[in-house]
Amino acid sequence: MERPRFVIEPSEAESMAKQSGLSVLQLLPSLVKSAQPLARPSISNFPVGAVGLCSDGRIFLGVNLEFPGLPLHHSVHAEQFLVTNIAFHRHSSLRFVAVSSAPCGHCRQFLQEIRGSPNIRIFITSSQNEGSNPGDDADDDAQFKPLLHFLPHRFGPDDLLDKDVPLLLEPHNNGLVLVRKKEDSSCNGFAEFCEFEDNLVAAALEAANESHAPYSGCPSGAAFVDSVGKVYRGSYMESAAYNPSLGPIQAALVAYVASGGGGGYDQIVAGVLVEKEGAAAAQEHTARLLLQLVSPLCEFRVFHCRSASNDCKKSSSS
Ligand SMILES: [Zn+2]
Repeated sequence: MERPRFVIEPSEAESMAKQSGLSVLQLLPSLVKSAQPLARPSISNFPVGAVGLCSDGRIFLGVNLEFPGLPLHHSVHAEQFLVTNIAFHRHSSLRFVAVSSAPCGHCRQFLQEIRGSPNIRIFITSSQNEGSNPGDDADDDAQFKPLLHFLPHRFGPDDLLDKDVPLLLEPHNNGLVLVRKKEDSSCNGFAEFCEFEDNLVAAALEAANESHAPYSGCPSGAAFVDSVGKVYRGSYMESAAYNPSLGPIQAALVAYVASGGGGGYDQIVAGVLVEKEGAAAAQEHTARLLLQLVSPLCEFRVFHCRSASNDCKKSSSS
């Protein structure tokens, strides 16, 4: 099968399924193998591919990313990549996932942030019986097991948040505005950075406004520009269990890879982080560390934001 892109539109998915004599649901496992070579598992050499079908018929891909020279917890798991990819393309409900290996505990937990997550149905292709497809059963989705099957005693948003707080993939805006300081208007002599700065700051602020941070009340967003001037943005996404949270730099790297940034990360020439000043869950130091490791010559700047209503935890558990 042809090497897939990271998003497949519904009409294209239907056409691919038809050509292969499959249903769209049956197509998912067949795409996993072609997703795996897109992974960047530089430490483990264990490529993981995850393929998700959303309620609007779009198919999204996810792969794992690892970063040599940094602790393992900076890694992006394929399921996290998948969810980040969906979030980046604006809020759509994830219904089915085919993945090359059983989701690890970290990913089972991360998926809890999606409303209705116990009903997300998962198919593990490595446990697929030879010669059988998920659609060989009378019921097309019979071999997709609900997430509840993999994580029966769940701890998640329900334990910490009010029911009306938007969850991951649900539309929301954190109502953040930039706090401009006098020194922010100068580019500190970095001419190249200056050219892209307004775009980058706007993209990072947009990402911060889309950030899922109901537990800390500290949303943040990052944006990069590459050597040809293309901008990528990523939103910080929290987990009720804290540790599986995905940082804004990782999320922007997902956007970079998913948007066709097939080259090295050193093509990223400038990056911006937007977060609240004095945030309890601050990203700045980790963001600087990660970005300078993957792209040592990248210019990096931090801008602060505040809630337009000055109500820092409006969208949190209060
Ligand atoms: Zn995982």
